[in-house]
Amino acid sequence: MRVVEEEPRVVVMEGSWSAERVIRDIVEDGVQEDPFYVMDLGEVVARYRHWKELMPRVEPFYAVKCNDDKLLVSTLAALGAGFDCASKAEIQLVTGLGVRPDRIIFANPAKPASHIRYASAAGVITMTFDSETELLKTKQYMPHAQLVIRIRCDATSAQCPLGIKFGCDPVAEAPRLLKLAAVMGLNVVGVSFHVGSGAQETGVYARAIQFARALFEAGDAAGHTMYLLDVGGGFPGNSGTCIREVSQVINSALELHFPSRSVRVIAEPGRYFAAAAYTLAAMVHATRKLPAKEGESEEEAHTMYFINDGVYGSFNCVLYDHQQVHAVPLEQSSERAQQCSVWGPSCDGLDCVLPAYALPPQRTGSWLVFRDMGAYTLPVASPFNGFPTPKVRAVVDKHLWSMLKELWPLTEANFVFGRVTSPQTPPPSPLDSDPPSPASPPSPPPLTPPAHHAVFVECALK
Ligand SMILES: *Cc1c(COP(=O)(O)O)cnc(C)c1O
Repeated sequence: MRVVEEEPRVVVMEGSWSAERVIRDIVEDGVQEDPFYVMDLGEVVARYRHWKELMPRVEPFYAVKCNDDKLLVSTLAALGAGFDCASKAEIQLVTGLGVRPDRIIFANPAKPASHIRYASAAGVITMTFDSETELLKTKQYMPHAQLVIRIRCDATSAQCPLGIKFGCDPVAEAPRLLKLAAVMGLNVVGVSFHVGSGAQETGVYARAIQFARALFEAGDAAGHTMYLLDVGGGFPGNSGTCIREVSQVINSALELHFPSRSVRVIAEPGRYFAAAAYTLAAMVHATRKLPAKEGESEEEAHTMYFINDGVYGSFNCVLYDHQQVHAVPLEQSSERAQQCSVWGPSCDGLDCVLPAYALPPQRTGSWLVFRDMGAYTLPVASPFNGFPTPKVRAVVDKHLWSMLKELWPLTEANFVFGRVTSPQTPPPSPLDSDPPSPASPPSPPPLTPPAHHAVFVECALK
């Protein structure tokens, strides 16, 4: 364990800039080889403001599981957000920043006992449940908890449905659980739901809020004091998406069913805050041209591009989060787009990022840019097969810097001026590549000739 943990640094950008421009700056000297993210803190600030403007009554509690990057969590803490934590480690991360426990909801309806004890010791007392056994555990480990019943109400379509795993039936099960909790002497204070992550339907929030209203009555009748409504996550996060429509649905359902301001309303957005702030840059390190099939023209030939991040790294989102990712070449080209596929670096055939795509011809050393890569990517990534997961290079526009550096837990120490370079990959020194021991054998000659030799080989074959 490191004793001194360095504060995450954000480079303050002056003048006009873009994530693509920052990427170009980082890769232009040819030293950077590993994939990396450019994270724009300004995107998080803009989204927080937009949320407050559209849903002033709904307090966002950021779902940490979506992306637990310390800088993202610190920025949201600085802006005043609350947090949805699902485990002991997530609670530790957030309270470790100094966030008070009353700004945290332990929103996992199926919690290990030791995590409940930890939450209790940390002072995190608002927790969700959806079953009888969770009530028994709560009685044993945190009898003073403020419980929130999680009900099921699914969007007709969602990128990642959650109802199959969590949420009791609002009609068939919830009223009985509310009575049981009262009999056990436990306090239920509210209702929560999650309509599904990346929900495609907005009307579902109105249905769920209506169910919640009925359960507020049932809870009060059972002897509880109901005051907390948690509308969960499910909000879109990619650039170009908007929460205007869903905010109107939620606002009017709240006016209809919860007009009293004595009811506190929170939400647990994950994707909304994380997705668009992170742009991934990955490098093509190998290419393979498949010969055109019989009867096909040269134009229809297919090229395989191998990049240094794949489905075991950031692109796990393709498998687990059902994301559709888009590759944009960093260098513009006037050449025609051609059929291709994009593969990750591991030796697994499953490691395919884009099975059928079209790109202008790319070379070894070309960079591809993937926008909207902040949600459900980094925390799941593994360095499988020895390929490192990408580092995050954070930036913020100068006009926000003066405001953010005053907002605890961010401090002046989090920010630096200057160019974003590639410090984590220092210029290659002979010591890096050769084993230091004098006894070790000399490194063998490379198996393949350097790239420029390939041209001669090809000519010789013709
Ligand atoms: C994952 C999760 C969220 C975040 O969902 P998004 O769709 O990313 O907004 C919120 N609440 C709970 C309980 C979750 O499990």
